[in-house]
Amino acid sequence: MFRQTKRRVAGRRNFEEVASYTHASYPSRLSFYDLPPLEEITLEQFETWAVDRLRVLIEIESCLARGKSLRETEAVVKPLLLKYLPTASSGGDIVAERRKDYYSHYTLRLVFCRTDELRRKFVRNEAALFKIRYNLLQPKEQHDFVRAHAAKLHWEYILPDDKAARADELYAALAPALRAALAADDAPALSPDALRQHVRTKENFIRLPFARVPQLVALRLVYMLRGYAYIPSSLQVSLLAAVFADLLAAALVKTFHALPRLEEDDRLLPMLAHLSRNFASVQYDAAADAAHGLTAAAVLSPAVTLHFPLCARRLLRSLAADAHLKYGARQQLGLFLKGAGLGVDEALKFWAAQFTRTGKINMDSFNKEYRYNFRHMYGLEGGRINYKPWDCNTILLKPKPQRGESHGCPYRDLSSDALVASLAEMGVSDPHDVNGVLEDVQKHDYTVACTRVFEISHRAKMTRPENLHITHPNLYFDRSRQLDKAEVRVE
Ligand code: SF4
Repeated sequence: MFRQTKRRVAGRRNFEEVASYTHASYPSRLSFYDLPPLEEITLEQFETWAVDRLRVLIEIESCLARGKSLRETEAVVKPLLLKYLPTASSGGDIVAERRKDYYSHYTLRLVFCRTDELRRKFVRNEAALFKIRYNLLQPKEQHDFVRAHAAKLHWEYILPDDKAARADELYAALAPALRAALAADDAPALSPDALRQHVRTKENFIRLPFARVPQLVALRLVYMLRGYAYIPSSLQVSLLAAVFADLLAAALVKTFHALPRLEEDDRLLPMLAHLSRNFASVQYDAAADAAHGLTAAAVLSPAVTLHFPLCARRLLRSLAADAHLKYGARQQLGLFLKGAGLGVDEALKFWAAQFTRTGKINMDSFNKEYRYNFRHMYGLEGGRINYKPWDCNTILLKPKPQRGESHGCPYRDLSSDALVASLAEMGVSDPHDVNGVLEDVQKHDYTVACTRVFEISHRAKMTRPENLHITHPNLYFDRSRQLDKAEVRVE
């Protein structure tokens, strides 16, 4: 997949070989990823494909952490799959799509094989992605996929005659489980006759020793006969996903052991290190000079602060209390406001008004001590870098605030009592909701907690599921404003 030495690009020969890869190299749009791809790709492809897959996995991770069902997760993830990781059954460039799918999967194996926790997360999210994709396949494709992996699965399909002879027993045993599995959010439940017909015509049953499916047996989701469980197609995806997860978990351990050989490569390591920071490492590209046209006078208006995430609200509260912010907090809030559309002139007006409000700092001192700092943020001083607003990952990587400081992420830095009080101010006070947030915090899933709060406080305006995992304070702000204007577009 890539060279293990420091040899740079040796020529175009290998890239030309890519063109010779055909449909047969990637026979299905669903895969157990048994064999690593062997073609060469560019470093840019290596990184951007992995980032695209991460975008999908982050959304899945967020949905699972917030207790979404597979069906709800599917609704959120489908548009992202279409955009970042399409795998069509025909038409378009299906070889290119599948090649990207393979490479991005294998790249992320390298990224997430390093610790137990990362491996567990990756396996859980990839297994969920596998289920979602399996459900998107046509019945024939599902059948073909199972047939192609018969050696691995050891599944025994029951013959049509056997099925016909037991149709009534199968229906009687499986009707509730099938009704739940087939229920669509927006459709009425299937009538008994429709369900009976479905069992006869659509379901392909497999027969397995019951010891291989203890969970399905415990939940009474299968028909049992003489030590065998009869499992309908609708429930087979969980079995497939379990096989997928086991294989992937074992492969990740092998990858981890092979990693030292890769450590020689100084091109890939920085990329892998960047990607492996955690599942929130994909950045929302907040425009550093967004065109919202925020004015100094409007920054503190409720119509604007209503859309701020908790970190920005906390910074504003400190600013209001002290008429001052220390360096870290100034950077965090200053860049957030810049991303929210506060231009440099309005920013200088805003900060000067706030810092001189109590008279402890006069205008001369402000100009001498702080003006440079704010102009620097906008790339008008020093190295003239147009700094971007900090994302959640950057904020969470900074040291925790000490006494008198207010930068950071409140979900990480506030005590439980203070956090509960802050949540109440944002309208999140239902004990069930608050407990959900506190549980996320206990698990150190701070961006999940923030996403949960976003969802709760915007519930009334969200008319359909959307991908929204919060990885950036400005993403929170932008999404919130979009919802307010009812201009939400699924990306
Ligand atoms: Fe701010 Fe991100 Fe923490 Fe939310 S998760 S409060 S946006 S730093």
